[in-house]
Amino acid sequence: MSTRRTRLLLVLAMAFLCSVLSFVSKPALSSRGRVSLSMAAKKDFPANPVAVVTGASRGIGKAVALALGDAGCKVVVNYASNEAAAQAVCEEVKARAAVKGGTAVAMKADCSNFDEITAMFQRINAEVGSVDVLVNNAGITRDMLAIMMKPTDFTDVISLNLNGVFFCSQAAFSSSMMKSKRGRIINIASIIGQIGNPGQVNYAAAKGGVIGMTRAMAKEFGGRNVCVNAVCPGFIESDMTKDLNKDAYLPNIPLKRFGTPEEVAGLVRFLALDPAASYMSGHCYDIDGGLAIGAT
Ligand code: NAP
Repeated sequence: MSTRRTRLLLVLAMAFLCSVLSFVSKPALSSRGRVSLSMAAKKDFPANPVAVVTGASRGIGKAVALALGDAGCKVVVNYASNEAAAQAVCEEVKARAAVKGGTAVAMKADCSNFDEITAMFQRINAEVGSVDVLVNNAGITRDMLAIMMKPTDFTDVISLNLNGVFFCSQAAFSSSMMKSKRGRIINIASIIGQIGNPGQVNYAAAKGGVIGMTRAMAKEFGGRNVCVNAVCPGFIESDMTKDLNKDAYLPNIPLKRFGTPEEVAGLVRFLALDPAASYMSGHCYDIDGGLAIGAT
């Protein structure tokens, strides 16, 4: 083979190698580009995030649904039995949020029942969209001194206030947040889960459990860019507290009043939607008028 022919073959071989290398490296680079772009995009919420609020027909849940609707969310207003109240909340969300595009739909599900929760989240994903925000708010009390508490008073409270928080969080994470790589879960616990209260061993056990669960879920879900936090209200004006003798409690509250559902909703809205809350996870935020530190 002549030297000229050898040189020509070498040049052709190098040209072939270069074209192969550029063919291989270009998709690799663009694929890396796509990955980093989509990771960044996935961190941002859409203009109208899907927000599920359990027990949103009354009280704190209703105030949270209205606040998230005002911020432009597509709100799922979950309820257990009071359909008329839930529909009224939806109408109010739509009327108030007309400018920002917020909307709402009522969905019945007993949040202490695994099958009903599973069916609700399947419906949400099919009819509303992937869940961005979950507010585990549904809760009950069955107060009685421990020595006289019936087994069902204990288990009913645990079923909704603790098990329900887990089932809803698991459903929201596995059906939506794990895939979208974004999400905020806010668990409405209680200051009673930290300091206890006579007559509420069931409630204190459930809410204390929610605080522990919040920390564990934050560790598990954080790798998927999902923040999990708990809010711990003190005494808040609602159906839950309307029969309490306020005079017995006010001396222990530095601010000398019960809180409002709207005050709790403002904190939830911050944790759920504010960009500043995107690096907050695994914590418990008290909103109690100073109850936990005691009166001055
Ligand atoms: P509320 O006024 O009694 O309202 C309870 C809500 O939960 C209602 O929307 C109710 O729906 C719903 N609900 C009840 N059982 C349910 C079930 N099995 N499945 C789904 N939804 C159910 O209570 P709230 O005072 O607003 O309390 C809301 C949350 O804040 C609770 O987790 C509570 O423990 C917590 N919290 C409250 C206070 C307070 O002082 N109020 C303090 C600390 C923490 P229906 O209308 O359909 O029955």
